[in-house]
Amino acid sequence: MATAKPLYERLSKNITAYPPEEAREMAFMLLDHYFGLRKTDVLTDKPLPPNRTEPDWFKILERLNRQEPIQHVIGTTIFCGLEFEVSPAVLIPRPETEDLVRLIMHDFADRRDDVPILDIGTGSGCIAVTLARFLPQSVVTGWDVSDEALTLARRNAEHLNADVTFEIQDILNVPADRVRKFDCVVSNPPYVTRSEAADMDRNVLDYEPDLALFVEDNDPLVFYKAVADFCVRHLTKDGACYVEINERFGEATRQVFSDRGFSTIQVYKDIHGKDRSIRATF
Ligand code: GLN
Repeated sequence: MATAKPLYERLSKNITAYPPEEAREMAFMLLDHYFGLRKTDVLTDKPLPPNRTEPDWFKILERLNRQEPIQHVIGTTIFCGLEFEVSPAVLIPRPETEDLVRLIMHDFADRRDDVPILDIGTGSGCIAVTLARFLPQSVVTGWDVSDEALTLARRNAEHLNADVTFEIQDILNVPADRVRKFDCVVSNPPYVTRSEAADMDRNVLDYEPDLALFVEDNDPLVFYKAVADFCVRHLTKDGACYVEINERFGEATRQVFSDRGFSTIQVYKDIHGKDRSIRATF
């Protein structure tokens, strides 16, 4: 009977575009995705499912070796324990963003009444959907400027049974007649400057959308200014704004919020010790 380990070894050996450690990680992900086998199943050499349909491994390896992100190859990624569909139309949800979502869940966990939340630049919908699923009091709206992203976000919400209202809206052009207020505004906007692209991996540059990644060097905080301006008008007075940030601009982004009258501004670090997110309250 065919077992997991030889296949795992064959796959990791043939993922040649990455260092061995990463290749092995990807082989685990492939076995998990296609056959539902966990790491421990592979390591203990469990049998492969008897009536499995074998995917086209040659094609899969070819795509991986072209440095196409594995999340695109398998079509999904895990975010806060939920499986999200991803595509080249959206940023692949990242672990740093999970921390931001956990911070929000922690802050609002004890609230008894409804918590209206707005996720600006929702992309795959990972932030909006996770909050809607795990924070029962939340009433979540997700905005994005990309129609394609919204289609995917809606599909993710449906598959994950999350009640989110998605709307097409550019944060740089919000009509003045918007009257709704939110207790929580969250955003992981584009924050990589064009000049930083030189240091980035091909699997990000070639496959993830520019629209979700980049800002111009002459105004790298453009989205934070827009989000903070929006909050001045649309965040309730006890509400809070949460943003993921470029590690190079921790202090400058803090300043954007303090210039607009926010008085308590905390900068949080990611697991690598870099400034990665901000919570701002009035
Ligand atoms: N909100 C989405 C995420 O956190 C998309 C962010 C983006 O495209 N900049 O993954």
